[in-house]
Amino acid sequence: MTEIETIKEANCAKRIIDMGKIDLEYIRARCREDGDCWIWRLGFTSRQVPSMHAGKKIVGVRRVVAELLGLQIEGKKVTTKCGNKRCVCPDHVLPATPVALGKMVAKRTGYASFTVRNKKISDAKRANSSKLTAEQAKEIRESDDRLIDIAAKYGIAAATAQRIKAGKVWKTYGATPFSGLGAR
Ligand SMILES: [Zn+2]
Repeated sequence: MTEIETIKEANCAKRIIDMGKIDLEYIRARCREDGDCWIWRLGFTSRQVPSMHAGKKIVGVRRVVAELLGLQIEGKKVTTKCGNKRCVCPDHVLPATPVALGKMVAKRTGYASFTVRNKKISDAKRANSSKLTAEQAKEIRESDDRLIDIAAKYGIAAATAQRIKAGKVWKTYGATPFSGLGAR
């Protein structure tokens, strides 16, 4: 079996999650943040797909992230919305059928457009974040729902929900009088 075939294996990501050692915070801690992207710092396949070891298997990190978000990935490849092939950000992972992926790749023209898009995502995120109240942040921290459901419920990005849960973002928001904390 080649490395790539191993990565496609459907249950692999699920299995390492079931082992209970991996969550989004584990993954984020192994990334370098670049704008909105989480750039994986560890292993890659020969095709630059972010990868990690799961026992004797190698599994695509984006597959793990997609599974953690509760996305359907069976029979799909997991690419990025941002176009950065080293990115594993929960808001950028995108499960796609091979056909859809082919079309997407054909549309991608250059780095400049990704930068513009990243800025838009960033602005949207900021607008979204300021919608939250301290009370809602507390609800999010205490919620047992899947991140993707929390994100939909509060109209925020999954990565934001994850960071609120991890107690990271809300701290930052509370740090300045301009953070929009408590704005309704
Ligand atoms: Zn990205």
